[in-house]
Amino acid sequence: MDKFVEYVNSHRDRFVAELQDFCRQPSVAAQNLGMREMADMVLTRFKQLGADARLIPVEGGAPVVYAEIGSGKRTLMIYDHYDVQPPEPFDLWDTPPWEAAIRDGKIFARGVSDNKADLLSRIQTVEAYLATIGPLPLKIKFVVEGEEEIGSPHLPQFAQANRTLLQDADGCLWEFGSKDINDRPTMSCGLKGIMYLELHAHGAARDLHSSLAAIVVDPAWRLTWALNTLKDSDDHILIDDYASHVRPPTEAEMDALKAIPFDEAKIKADYAIPAFLNDLTGLELLQKYLYEPTCTICGLYSGYIGEGAKTVLPNHAFAKLDFRLVPNLSPDLVVDLLRKHLDRRGFTDIEINLTETGEEVARSPLDSPIVRAAVDAMKAIYPNEPVIYPTSAGSGPMHALCQALGIPAVSAGCGWHDSRAHAPNESVRIEDYFEGIRFVRELIERFARLGG
Ligand SMILES: [Zn+2]
Repeated sequence: MDKFVEYVNSHRDRFVAELQDFCRQPSVAAQNLGMREMADMVLTRFKQLGADARLIPVEGGAPVVYAEIGSGKRTLMIYDHYDVQPPEPFDLWDTPPWEAAIRDGKIFARGVSDNKADLLSRIQTVEAYLATIGPLPLKIKFVVEGEEEIGSPHLPQFAQANRTLLQDADGCLWEFGSKDINDRPTMSCGLKGIMYLELHAHGAARDLHSSLAAIVVDPAWRLTWALNTLKDSDDHILIDDYASHVRPPTEAEMDALKAIPFDEAKIKADYAIPAFLNDLTGLELLQKYLYEPTCTICGLYSGYIGEGAKTVLPNHAFAKLDFRLVPNLSPDLVVDLLRKHLDRRGFTDIEINLTETGEEVARSPLDSPIVRAAVDAMKAIYPNEPVIYPTSAGSGPMHALCQALGIPAVSAGCGWHDSRAHAPNESVRIEDYFEGIRFVRELIERFARLGG
């Protein structure tokens, strides 16, 4: 047997125990819980590896753990995050979120799939490589941030301030990835952008008796009417000039969709939905999923929503919206177009409240060396054919850290289709974890060898 695989097998129990240790340390950025402890834990693990590692302070936020190891012609950036989503609601967990219990060949913990398993498996890959094969064939620069789950508010400044440190990377292995519903490994070569904002409508100085609704403005209706202008029932976004900024997919981008096996029947059954939006299927469905923007009401609140009746005229209504973005939309453009759209329709009273900074769209060429290396590595390791997504439907700070510095990136990881990131009973299958380690080793070797 290959020495690398033998080493990983014989250290299997310790590798799993280390992952449990990582998961048992809470690190919830949104609650500022355990952040420094987790950063120190990651730093210590890098130092055990012999990496040149340090914490890079981030003003007003959690530090970035930065580590360099190896040398060679090529430089691989590896991006992960050590923060996790809040674990609530606790009562929906079968075992406590910080226990990292093992059941049925899976580790259950908050943050195990997003993204501590990926982070640690990459570190352990380097350990096994150094112990069995020798010095790394390339330089690796690990960037591990602590604010991904709150929208990476400081990563763009971090990337710009450390431009000279980072920009010689030839490619980046991004944080996440999972097997699909038919257990095929997936990778994605980009991310949608995102803008998250709130719309507020205000009425009288205080809540009033609802008899006064005959003569006093109802902010819940104002908000409803305003929201109603944003999208039609066929799911078209109606914001003025919005559609004209959506670049239609190129022929190559459409071709990339044809190779994606999207098991519609299984996915519909899994979500318990009778059909996808607009009864879409096939290529049209994938095109809408990956290449079209969204406008989602993530939360909507006004007045009394408790038990029984309360005839009240609320004085405030608000909605939380997210906009997933495709080329050539940007977060700033969305806010600008939305403001003008509302004003033109007499909704100057609807306030746009910006609570997040937004993230730009990221795309990497499908023929870039890092994508080619990832495809080859997956083919070499996984029994099932890999599925290559030209972009994920999700978002993240990939543009700020990679595309803005001219670095192509590919996202791949050791999740499975039911990993339940952000939800109760988040898990990683232990076999997927070890397959992930073998994949990263292959990726390192293939990326170091590839020309171009
Ligand atoms: Zn996440």
